Amino acid sequence: MFLCNLPTFFKKQKIIMSAEKQKRTELKDIGEFGLIDVLQQDVKLYQESTKKGIGDDAAVIDASSEQTVVSTDMLVEGIHFDLSYMPLKHLGYKAIAVNVSDIAAMNAVPRQVTVSIALSNRFSKEAVEELYKGINIACENYKVDLVGGDTTSSRSGLVISVTAIGTAKEENLAYRSGAKPGEILCVTGDLGGAYMGLQLLEREKQVYMSNPQAQPELKDQEYVVGRQLRPEARTDMVHEFKEYGIKPTSMIDISDGLASEVMHICKNSEVGAVLYEEKFPVAEETLKAAMDFHIPSSTVVLNGGEDYELLFTIKQEDYEKVKHNPNISFIGYILEKEKGTQLITKGKQVVPLQAQGWTHFKQSEDE
Ligand code: ADP
Ligand code: MG
Repeated sequence: MFLCNLPTFFKKQKIIMSAEKQKRTELKDIGEFGLIDVLQQDVKLYQESTKKGIGDDAAVIDASSEQTVVSTDMLVEGIHFDLSYMPLKHLGYKAIAVNVSDIAAMNAVPRQVTVSIALSNRFSKEAVEELYKGINIACENYKVDLVGGDTTSSRSGLVISVTAIGTAKEENLAYRSGAKPGEILCVTGDLGGAYMGLQLLEREKQVYMSNPQAQPELKDQEYVVGRQLRPEARTDMVHEFKEYGIKPTSMIDISDGLASEVMHICKNSEVGAVLYEEKFPVAEETLKAAMDFHIPSSTVVLNGGEDYELLFTIKQEDYEKVKHNPNISFIGYILEKEKGTQLITKGKQVVPLQAQGWTHFKQSEDE
């Protein structure tokens, strides 16, 4: 974890982004080619299939006998991230992790990424180096190769677009459309932490803006803040499924909250589902933060976002193989389409999943 010392967080962010910093090399002084030289200096390659990385008109990848899986995500300053509390290094890491997560959600192995950035003159060479430090750490963690991209200027703000490329045997690919009635709905890890981390950071930003001398109250909140600033893609599960000799019948990564991801699987698979609130995996720290903000933790699980865990379905007969895996929670079942999507609350009430009446709290945080 390279999370900063949180109490000095906002001050440090201000220094990195401000013009007062002693060491600041303007992008116009090094030019586009100078910048590309800088950002490729620490790039390492891990994949045999990468025949040519950065440095030519196009990268060259050895097309294996497997299927190629491709996914792109764009992150826009002010829409998807706020640099007043998102360190550039974390942002670089997150940009790679969220794309790798989409590849993992297909039950595929990520191999290469390309990174395209648009930068305003507010950014210095040192800022771009910070961003690429995070990108390179993520590439090393997930063993993916940064093989190219594009660099251009923007009028204001920062835009990062990442494309991730992966491979899988055709028979191992997990689509959103494969769930069948009777199958078990599973999630990895715990949910809701990233949303509570965002709430905390937003609150502390307001405090900081009204009084820069105030000490951020982020003590004991490292877990949820870390879930927001540095999410991990569950590539480990792709390997675990392989070891168990099972294939999820459907799968999706949880970027927008559990409710909407369940709906995606149900819509694409033409099925219904039932979820049990009491089965939702929530970390202690998330529970505590939700209590501080007077939000029911299940609301955060269902409608928060950015946890990047996996939601998937397995056949009943595969349950025995995975039931002791501490990374997996069994949260419900797939039903016939006509039954719709239902939630059984802790009080044993049955409520339709789409009509919670709590979507009001999900502000326009994405799109
Ligand atoms: P071209 O003019 O052919 O588009 P560029 O000068 O833009 O080439 O890029 C030169 C090389 O640097 C290419 O291999 C390209 O993929 C790579 N590259 C450019 N920008 C980035 C970036 N932001 N991140 C990673 N690689 C990049
Ligand atoms: Mg180019």
